[in-house]
Amino acid sequence: MKLLSAIVPCYNEEENIADFYQEFVKNEPFFKEKEIEFEIWYIDDGSKDGTVSKIKNLIEKDSRVHLLSFSRNFGKEAAIYAGLEKSKGDYVVFLDADLQDPPALLPEMLGFLEQGYDSVATRRVTRKGEPPIRSFFARMFYRLMKKISRTEIMDGARDYRLMKRPVVEAILSMPEYNRFSKGIFGWVGFETKWIEFENIERKKGETKWSFWKLFIYSLDGITAFSTAPLAFAAFMGVLFCLAAFALILFTIVRKALFGDPTSGWPSLVCIISLISGVQLFCLGIVGQYLAKTYMEVKRRPIYLIKEEISCGK
Ligand code: UDP
Ligand code: MG
Repeated sequence: MKLLSAIVPCYNEEENIADFYQEFVKNEPFFKEKEIEFEIWYIDDGSKDGTVSKIKNLIEKDSRVHLLSFSRNFGKEAAIYAGLEKSKGDYVVFLDADLQDPPALLPEMLGFLEQGYDSVATRRVTRKGEPPIRSFFARMFYRLMKKISRTEIMDGARDYRLMKRPVVEAILSMPEYNRFSKGIFGWVGFETKWIEFENIERKKGETKWSFWKLFIYSLDGITAFSTAPLAFAAFMGVLFCLAAFALILFTIVRKALFGDPTSGWPSLVCIISLISGVQLFCLGIVGQYLAKTYMEVKRRPIYLIKEEISCGK
C-alpha cells in the first residue's frame, strides 16, 4: 500500500471545505484499484471564518482528514511548507481549497509517477476570467524571470503539484524564510512532467490575492531567485561613470576651442537630479536584498501552530 498525502492550504474557505472533500473522495475507486491510501491535511492559515469548524466536522466523520491550524495568517507559502513537514505520504500533492486545482486530474497525474517521473506539475494554458491587467503583468513577470533567473519558472504554473518522497525531502531541505515555491520547485530539479489544463474559475468565495499583494509577491520571487538587479545597479554605476567621463572631455575641449561662457546651469540641474534618482533607485535595490537578508538571519519560524488534530489526537 502506498500513501498519498493531499495538502490543502485554506484561508477563509468555509464554503469550500466540504465541497473539496466531496470532490477529492470521488477518486476513491481509482485509489483502491491502485492500492493507494490517502490522507488530507487541511492547513488553516489563520482563517477568521468558520473554516476550522468545517474541517473539524469532516474529521469526526473521516479519520483520514487532519487539521493544522496556524496562530495567524502566515501566507500560502508557509502553509505549503507546514503541510510538507506533516505529510507522511510516499506521494504528496498540493491542491487549492477552491477547486481551481481539479482533484479529477489526480489519476492521470499518478499515472505519470508510475511511469517513472518524480513529480507532475500543472500549468493553465488560459487565463480566462482573470482581469486583463493582471494577466498582462503576470506575463511580463514570467518573461522577466526567464531572462534574469537561472531557475526555471514556468508561465502559468499553478501550485498544483504531485511529487514523490525524495522531492518532498529536497524541498524540506530548503528552510529559507522568503519562500517562493514556484522557484523552489524549479530549483530542486528532478524529472518533472508538465500537464496543461484550462483555467477554472473559483466557484465560491473570493480570491485572497489583490493586485498589490501579487505585485509584492513577484518582487519577493525576483529577489529570492535572481541577483540580476544587483548586477543592474553595478552596471548603471559603470554607465554613468562613462557618461561623466565623456562629459568632462567634452567640457575641456569646448573650453579650449571656444572659451567658456559660464552657462549650463539648467543642464547641470537635470544631470544632478537624474543621477541622484538613479543612485537612490540602485540603493533601493541593494536595500531590498539587505531586507531579505535581515529577515533570513533572524531565523524566525516560518509558521506557528495553534492547533493540530490528527488521527483523533
Ligand atoms: N491561501 C492561504 N493563505 C493565504 C492566501 C491564500 O492558505 O494567505 C490559500 C487559499 O485558501 C486557497 C489557495 O491558497 O486554497 C489559493 O488562494 P486563492 O484561490 O485566493 O488564489 P488564486 O487561485 O486566486 O491565485
Ligand atoms: Mg484560487
